[in-house]
Amino acid sequence: MTNGSETVFSKIIRREIPATIVYEDDLALAFRDINPQAPVHILVIPKQVIPTIADATAADQSLLGHLLLVAAKVAKQENLDQGYRLVINCGPQGGQTVYHLHIHVLGGRSMHWPPG
Ligand code: 5GP
Repeated sequence: MTNGSETVFSKIIRREIPATIVYEDDLALAFRDINPQAPVHILVIPKQVIPTIADATAADQSLLGHLLLVAAKVAKQENLDQGYRLVINCGPQGGQTVYHLHIHVLGGRSMHWPPG
């Protein structure tokens, strides 16, 4: 399906451009970030297009919970037993560059706070 809210992530879901996919189910896909900011940097996305977390509605409640559980599953799969960070950037001031909701799973090094 093509619509105005499509991004490069829709092309990854459809296998039109390559990505290193580490997890997939009916609702979600997880793949390695092309520009990793940590030894492990994976993006967890819904297959359904939701541009930003601010666009999510009550109807998306179980999907959003599912994405968090997928993030935790992927972190376990990557052996991030010392911990990791989950990040959702929202909008221009949040640093979002791809307008298809995604959870960053960052791990394999100590994270800093505040994130800047
Ligand atoms: P945002 O800045 O929107 O929170 O995160 C978008 C992320 O998507 C960035 O970390 C960026 O490196 C990643 N990204 C952008 N284009 C591609 C792509 O074509 N393939 C993959 N694997 N990651 C991408």
